[in-house]
Amino acid sequence: MMNSSSRIDLKNLTREQLVEFLAGIGKERFRSQQLMAWIYKRGVTDFDQMTDLSKDLRTTLKEKAYVSDWLPEATEVSRDGTRKYLYRLDDGETVESVRIPMDNDRATLCISSQVGCAMGCDFCLTGTFGFKRHLTAAEIVNQVCAGLKDGPLQNIVFMGMGEPLHNLDNVVRSLEILYDPAGLDYSSRKITVSTCGLVPQMAELGRRITANLAVSLNATTDEVRDRLMPINKRYPLHELMAACRVFPLPAKRRITFEYILIRDLNDAIADAKRLVKLLHGVKAKVNLIPFNEHEGAAYRCPDETTISAFQTYLLDRNIVAVRRASKGQDISAACGQLKGKLEKQQAEAQQNVSIPT
Ligand code: SF4
Repeated sequence: MMNSSSRIDLKNLTREQLVEFLAGIGKERFRSQQLMAWIYKRGVTDFDQMTDLSKDLRTTLKEKAYVSDWLPEATEVSRDGTRKYLYRLDDGETVESVRIPMDNDRATLCISSQVGCAMGCDFCLTGTFGFKRHLTAAEIVNQVCAGLKDGPLQNIVFMGMGEPLHNLDNVVRSLEILYDPAGLDYSSRKITVSTCGLVPQMAELGRRITANLAVSLNATTDEVRDRLMPINKRYPLHELMAACRVFPLPAKRRITFEYILIRDLNDAIADAKRLVKLLHGVKAKVNLIPFNEHEGAAYRCPDETTISAFQTYLLDRNIVAVRRASKGQDISAACGQLKGKLEKQQAEAQQNVSIPT
């Protein structure tokens, strides 16, 4: 899927980096705009088809560069229209993205930022795979380019595999590419970066670029959060909430707090009460996500009455609390599940091969 030669993948470059690359081969700045339009607006990856570039430039580009182009190795489509894509990378690793349909004809794409994840959250299947490596900017951008082949994408959320702020440089670079008006031209309103709570990197993200921020909170005491999310031992709740209070937000924007509701662990009214306190002074919106039970999961989803009591408690105290419908429940929808399934199938296949007959 990726070219392993020493040629450079142009999808890895921001506009400024593309300008530098072009300068290195003696070409003008404005060519960067032409190239980005071919690659991102028209989806053309073959230099020979870029007809407004001189033959000489096309020949040099073929020697020095290439444009990667992705197709999924596997796609699962759910009854509600959610599509889960699995991509095979150059080094044999895999990543996933999920296309979630919205009311109109559009969709939200949930993308990955790493292969595996180092954060080890207890409720997350990806966490159990451990960390393999960071994705490059091109590998992040390619999930969007490939997702667009199935239709327009209204929103992009960095909520797939990996902790985006653990791969901050490549995430920022991919955002610059996604925002570039010469290319995919996304507004920063349309893109959300999530974090499990890497406090110093939250500040750095805010300094370097504008994006919506989503914080995966999931608990209202350090005791429960330590258990669910080991990162809490390094950056406990008071530090996390202090970082949220100073995170630079453009006018009318809020930080989204993701709260996975888990039966008998964080779903009591006492939790809702503590949550209201924690969010004091933060421009916040809460996404309540009933735990998506999967094979082998150690946790359970609360019952309907508990979920709606929790939501009502927040709404009654003027906290925007949206219940997120679990999409694609019939197709391995939680992050890492398609990868998990595929690896299990591969392991079983290998076992079958090695069983003596
Ligand atoms: Fe990593 Fe996110 Fe899973 Fe936590 S929930 S282990 S940060 S992928």
